[in-house]
Amino acid sequence: MSDNNKLTILFKSLNECSTIESIEAILGDFFKKNIKITIYDKNNTEISKYNSLSNGEIITDNQTVTIPLIIKDRLIGIICAEQGIDLEKTELIAPVAALKLDHISLSERIQTNIEFHNAMKNIAKIIETQYELSYIIPIIGEVLDTLISNHLIYLFLKHKSKNELVYPKSCLDKNILDNVNKISNEHMLNEDKKTGYFPLISENRTIGCLVAKSTEGEISAQEIYYLQQLAKQTATTITRANVYSDILKHATLDALTGFYNRRQLDERIKQETAEAKRNHTPLCAIMTDIDFFKKVNDTYGHAAGDVVLKNVAKIMRSQLREYDIAGRYGGEEFVILLPYTKPDEALIVAERLRQAVENKSIDIEKVNTKNNTKNISVTISLGVHEYKHTDKAEDLLLNADKALYKAKETGRNRVVTA
Ligand code: GH3
Ligand code: MG
Ligand code: MG
Repeated sequence: MSDNNKLTILFKSLNECSTIESIEAILGDFFKKNIKITIYDKNNTEISKYNSLSNGEIITDNQTVTIPLIIKDRLIGIICAEQGIDLEKTELIAPVAALKLDHISLSERIQTNIEFHNAMKNIAKIIETQYELSYIIPIIGEVLDTLISNHLIYLFLKHKSKNELVYPKSCLDKNILDNVNKISNEHMLNEDKKTGYFPLISENRTIGCLVAKSTEGEISAQEIYYLQQLAKQTATTITRANVYSDILKHATLDALTGFYNRRQLDERIKQETAEAKRNHTPLCAIMTDIDFFKKVNDTYGHAAGDVVLKNVAKIMRSQLREYDIAGRYGGEEFVILLPYTKPDEALIVAERLRQAVENKSIDIEKVNTKNNTKNISVTISLGVHEYKHTDKAEDLLLNADKALYKAKETGRNRVVTA
């Protein structure tokens, strides 16, 4: 094949490259030499020393040839090749390789930017469904981990003037644990520029710190910018969650399910038991708990867990009468109070709830952060108890809970009466 033909084929293959590695491979193949391409980055001392090469000069030493890749007097990267490559052809190829490299690094930057904005949006969105810090912190942690993939991410929250680790579960780097309590309200980098500390500031208060430890090179200026913005968004989300959770403590409804919250449920139990006692009317309670719910969170993520919770509540509500009282007792435990209802009727209601939940498929496609599963179904276990007029109010749930425990013990997805 003539040299011209070879070059034409080379240019064609270069044009189809979408990664730096593929450019390296194609050039390596062409020159039959090892080729390494590095993108120019003024913060990376390894490569910034080549800045003087903007005039296009090729440097050769005993082992390597360094060829600058230049577009309009701007150095965008270098090719390092083994000594002995054909310099004449190199001069022809370098401008084409430069264009391709510029194109690839531009698309990478755009892609990172898109992912960055998505991450910011996701952190802001968490608050729509959750306000309990124990749930939102791991979700924020996961979003950050996914975006800043070549860094270890740690989140600390201030507790009595000391920053305490809240994500992930442990940090073995003693250096980080020491430094995290020394930061001011400006971000700070370790001497080696591989660990960065970004204070979480919201409404002029420092509420904690985001720490990123690079597992590769120094943290770049671009990464610092991203981390600063993410720290800001994280701080805002956490502060809002705190405010929101305070407000909800005084509200009556649980935000996720629309059921009565725990406080209001306790109130209603007092009222309903007093009423039943006074009027000699029957009253039953059903206590439910989703089966293997931890597994749902673990397999599909917390956001999917929330959607499941919300839907289970919705399915249950659709099976109840208007004057039945539904409350969220705890995480994924619900209590249904059935006024004017005898135990045999309560058992029928409970069985109806069990079947309705079991038979409904829940769409988690939009929130599943871990795999491609689109629909899942879950089951619930239920304990039923009738209020005795001589009982204390708190005995009602105590006994319903005992029955629930038995339902769990005897295989789950079933109704047990105390
Ligand atoms: P079991 O069948 O024995 O009930 O198993 P389980 O995995 O459901 O165990 P358990 O009831 O003890 O676990 C409840 C889990 O529910 C623990 C917690 O992570 C999760 N959870 C509680 N509240 C919420 C919530 O609001 N959202 C999400 N996503 N998960 C929650
Ligand atoms: Mg539970
Ligand atoms: Mg459970």
